[in-house]
Amino acid sequence: MSRCLAERSIDHVVLERGEVAHSWRTERWDSLTLLTPNWQSRLPGFGYTGSDPDGFRTMVETIDFIARYARAIAAPVRTHTTVTCVRRRDDGYQVVTDQGVWECDTVVLASGACNVAHVPAVANLVPPGIATLTSMQYRNPGQLEDGGVLVVGASASGTQIADEIQRSGRQVTLAVGEHVRVPRVYRGKDIQWWMDASGLLDERYDQVDDIVRARSVPSLQLAGYPDRRSIDLNSLTAIGVKLVGRLAGVNNGKAQFSGSLRNVCALADLKMNRLLNMIDEWAAQSGVAGDVIPHRPEPTAVDASPPLLVDFTRAGIKTIIWATGFGPDYSWLDVPVVNPKGQIRHDGGVVEAPGLYLLGVPFLRRRKSSLIDGVGDDARDLSAHLAAYLNGRSRSTCPEIQALNA
Ligand SMILES: Cc1cc2nc3c(=O)[nH]c(=O)nc-3n(C[C@H](O)[C@H](O)[C@H](O)COP(=O)(O)OP(=O)(O)OC[C@H]3O[C@@H](n4cnc5c(N)ncnc54)[C@H](O)[C@@H]3O)c2cc1C
Repeated sequence: MSRCLAERSIDHVVLERGEVAHSWRTERWDSLTLLTPNWQSRLPGFGYTGSDPDGFRTMVETIDFIARYARAIAAPVRTHTTVTCVRRRDDGYQVVTDQGVWECDTVVLASGACNVAHVPAVANLVPPGIATLTSMQYRNPGQLEDGGVLVVGASASGTQIADEIQRSGRQVTLAVGEHVRVPRVYRGKDIQWWMDASGLLDERYDQVDDIVRARSVPSLQLAGYPDRRSIDLNSLTAIGVKLVGRLAGVNNGKAQFSGSLRNVCALADLKMNRLLNMIDEWAAQSGVAGDVIPHRPEPTAVDASPPLLVDFTRAGIKTIIWATGFGPDYSWLDVPVVNPKGQIRHDGGVVEAPGLYLLGVPFLRRRKSSLIDGVGDDARDLSAHLAAYLNGRSRSTCPEIQALNA
């Protein structure tokens, strides 16, 4: 957004509570690599120029990439400046920070979609002897007490963390709810390549049937491992991870799991095959099918009757990791645009308050909006809206600028 505003000569400042790329520096586990290939982090005027476009960035490389971008575009970032309140003031906004107060005509909320980890209410019922942490607090297996680990949630974070901990020699039990299964590689190309090339990631927010639902779909079961292996429930059971259903309750030192495991797995397989069918059709129509024979992943293998009740002590579970998703934090926003679920009311990033914009949340304007690769197109659209807003406002309210415009 800063780059797009600069292109339009709109004066702005970027306020950041930590360093540039703060979330990547402080909120991710040590071994995490991006699940999007290197070529797929295209920012306005800046992309990957190295020799491994299909590789996956480590956290150090991701931080470096974003920090280099900020320098390349000379973004006017004020680091170590925490916004504590944004409120309407006259015709614009007052932004209160721990480093002073700003008055401005417009505000872009780009504070991230993953500020706080969602932790289910049952967490309060976990027996005191069991350590609990969120995927934001998890760093590596060495940080955990000896003993078994229950990972709750089987999307990108949960499956990757389960894989790493099981391989470190601990017994992992993985509680599986709704999830989105995709193979890393299909028809000889990365799944992200297919989704990008076929236009799926460009699908717009006003083209989908149920945007509320589309905005809450879990992240893909996908990892950026150097060997490009897929991470799915079959690969996890093959290394010894035990699968159970969604965590439904905790009672008397026992975890209760939903009996829906087979159903959620069947549904994930069905949706994966629907996506691959769509890719097959597009590949045939566009002539990129080549002569690769498409290989479909095996259906998810699930025990006939997975346990519905697990006694933490008997199972030796000493740690629970909540990999149950994230949400934004707008506790500092004193403008009445936040719904009861803590999300901003907006139309493709144009918030229901004059001159207020939102960026960087799932399916903001496109399916790819939550990816680094998606922010550029969204920022271009919203900066155009913002410029028109400023222009229209100055025409209508300020005689001096009216004179200049004339
Ligand atoms: C575990 C995980 C893995 C991911 N993997 C990928 C991936 O492989 N590929 C991909 O494209 N995307 C991935 N994403 C999504 C990725 O986080 C987003 O694409 C990207 O970070 C969005 O950037 P952002 O600047 O909008 O938000 P953020 O990166 O969250 O940045 C928001 C910034 O706002 C600052 N901030 C927040 N509140 C305040 C305040 N009150 N005052 C001042 N500053 C504030 C924060 O410090 C932070 O630096 C992943 C997300 C997670 C959680």
